[in-house]
Amino acid sequence: MITRDSELANKRVVIASNRLPVSVSRKNGRLGISPSVGGLATGLSSFHRGSDGLWVGWPGINPGDTQNKLELEETLKKDYNCFPVYLTATDLKKYYHGFSNRTLWPLFHYFSTYATYDSSEWATYKKVNQMFCNRLLEVIRPGDIIWVHDYHLLLLPDMLRREVPDAIIGFFLHIPFPSMEIFRYLPWREDILQGMLGADLIGFHTYDYTRHFLSCVLRILGKEQVYGQLIVENRTVNVDTFPMGIDTDKFSTAASSPAVIKERELLDERLKPEKIILSVDRLDFTKGIPERLRAFELFLERYPEWHRKITYVMLCVPSRTKVREYQLLKSEIDELVGKINGRFDTPGWLPILYMYRSLPFEELVSLYSAADLALVTPLRDGMNLVAKEYLASQIDNPKGALVLSETAGAAAELGEAIVVNPNDINMMAEAIARGLSISEKDKKKRIESMTDRIKKYDIFQWTEDFLNQLCQTRDRQEHNRQFFLAEKERKEMQSDYNKAGKRLFLLDYDGTLMSLAGKPELAQPDSEIYSILSSLAGNPANTVVLISGRDSGTLTDWLGGAGVGMVAEHGTWIREADGHEWQLTNKGLSAGWKENVYPLLEMFSVRTPGSFIEEKSYALVWHYRKAEPELGNLRSKELVDALYDMLAGTDLQVLQGSKVVEIKPAGVNKGRAALHWLEKDAAWDFILAMGDDWTDEDTFSVLPDWSWTIKVGFAPFTGARFLLDSPAKARKLLKTLEEL
Ligand code: UDP
Repeated sequence: MITRDSELANKRVVIASNRLPVSVSRKNGRLGISPSVGGLATGLSSFHRGSDGLWVGWPGINPGDTQNKLELEETLKKDYNCFPVYLTATDLKKYYHGFSNRTLWPLFHYFSTYATYDSSEWATYKKVNQMFCNRLLEVIRPGDIIWVHDYHLLLLPDMLRREVPDAIIGFFLHIPFPSMEIFRYLPWREDILQGMLGADLIGFHTYDYTRHFLSCVLRILGKEQVYGQLIVENRTVNVDTFPMGIDTDKFSTAASSPAVIKERELLDERLKPEKIILSVDRLDFTKGIPERLRAFELFLERYPEWHRKITYVMLCVPSRTKVREYQLLKSEIDELVGKINGRFDTPGWLPILYMYRSLPFEELVSLYSAADLALVTPLRDGMNLVAKEYLASQIDNPKGALVLSETAGAAAELGEAIVVNPNDINMMAEAIARGLSISEKDKKKRIESMTDRIKKYDIFQWTEDFLNQLCQTRDRQEHNRQFFLAEKERKEMQSDYNKAGKRLFLLDYDGTLMSLAGKPELAQPDSEIYSILSSLAGNPANTVVLISGRDSGTLTDWLGGAGVGMVAEHGTWIREADGHEWQLTNKGLSAGWKENVYPLLEMFSVRTPGSFIEEKSYALVWHYRKAEPELGNLRSKELVDALYDMLAGTDLQVLQGSKVVEIKPAGVNKGRAALHWLEKDAAWDFILAMGDDWTDEDTFSVLPDWSWTIKVGFAPFTGARFLLDSPAKARKLLKTLEEL
């Protein structure tokens, strides 16, 4: 049993991400090491430093000669627990600047027009993911937790899974996961989803990203989820939301440290008594920097009373400087800053103090703690840690206000901020004015409730939460594995079968013996299943009964000659194995209600393309297997609600099967029909029941505990004792019994 509280809490966590938390650079012929910039590196390194785990990633350099390389590797290992993956200039060009940052980054941030689709870059992306996989295989030990991060390594979880089927693998995406409408543009969309599904737990910053991912998995791979769980090759994969936190203590402690206080005094000397407006971003098109500058210009235009009383400190950290779009963006920003400063400056006052560089930690925190207003207005951002770092640095009588974009992941948690649409220049200009004049009391209240929240779910809580869930997912897998019918149980079943003198088979048809087909009439029995059933039924010790939801006519046509007993319409009709007549199980049934219910089903069929109605003698069925899956699921819920209202007080019941909603008389079900055979003979000494959906649970529930009950397909909740993952396996099992 794996829980983080058990001895396995001591498992090593091996992180894999594109960049190591430290970057190596060459200065005057010597290699120097400094902390890496960016949300992932700054956030996770706090966790990594406090653990004995490893980190595998690119160090930012190719060290060249062997001596340098050995020394570097030794230092990285000894001082930082880091293991480098070296990338060549071509790898960087195609995998990093190419596929990662010219395809995935723009597409996942909804800048689909910036995205390029180049198959040679895709090939290098695959190759580099494989290099990461190989490097990990060199350093991991059995039992390690492998935690893969971000969009550069989307294929890595599945690559690792193929090499080490038992590995414990988590994956976290630090950028948005886009909606299906955007994701489907990607020519390699199936491979990307398969790659991610190699993990046991897949995490996203917000519920929306989780929802989008699950929707893509359903619509592209056809895999259904239940409460965020999916079955991938007999393995449960869990998908959930974990809004990433920061090391709040690090920022609040730094804010009151002598070094930061000194920096602040210098800043005050230079800028006070003016109010400070602050923004901190990597220079990236997703951060909405030109839009924000335009909003600031509009604010200056509308509110001359604030001239000379504020300074906008704009820190832009250089990023992807070799990519053309980034160079163009840099020129646009330079021009805008020049234009605004040229338009409004007066002797002794410069509206925008523009810094294009990365600042040391103390200087950054002094800016955070000195600022009266922070503008965090990305056009799209997975989370945005700057917003949280700003809040955490507001100590001693917090006085800062926060303007936050609704399209930053952080907005889901920081509702007390002044939330803006980053494309609405007018709204942002007004938000700046509001942020500057908000009352001290109001500001304090807002800051305190947001700070409280980010303290409670800081980076340590976030990592613990993710790793705990990863362990719980593994527990669940182990638990489920016990239920998958394994070789041992198969042998036991065969031995039971051999010993028994009177055997009963209660078998569902669709989804159990035959895979579900788009249209019911397409699931006709093939010769193999026909021969298995008739051969089993031909053995005088066996009674084989098909318990189906289908109508009696179809069952007679398809299997009437196989010598099997049959149940039609989920228990309304039965036919003995040696008879030809169908009998009603309940003589008092009526069908007069159908004309009242039919129009409602018809309305749903019209509104849900691909769905249709099936009429049975005592039941009506609405099928939505061919409908667009999400619309079908949604409409089925609406239909069930409408039916509950309509049928309250009648003796009809609503039954939800596999992609069907069925209305039929209450008291008729597969369990009752099964009792007909069960009670006929008390001497059964072997019973095997198999089924795939909710209607079959009624059969399982009436059988003695010792019966072999098997659920076919994914089942978070079932009364069956065992699971089999497909109709093909169910068939194979029957074949082995038939051949005994
Ligand atoms: N940052 C930094 N040096 C700087 C400015 C910012 O290390 O001079 C860090 C900042 O502390 C934050 C990260 O860069 O942790 C930016 O993370 P965010 O999630 O806001 O955006 P990302 O860069 O990941 O898109």
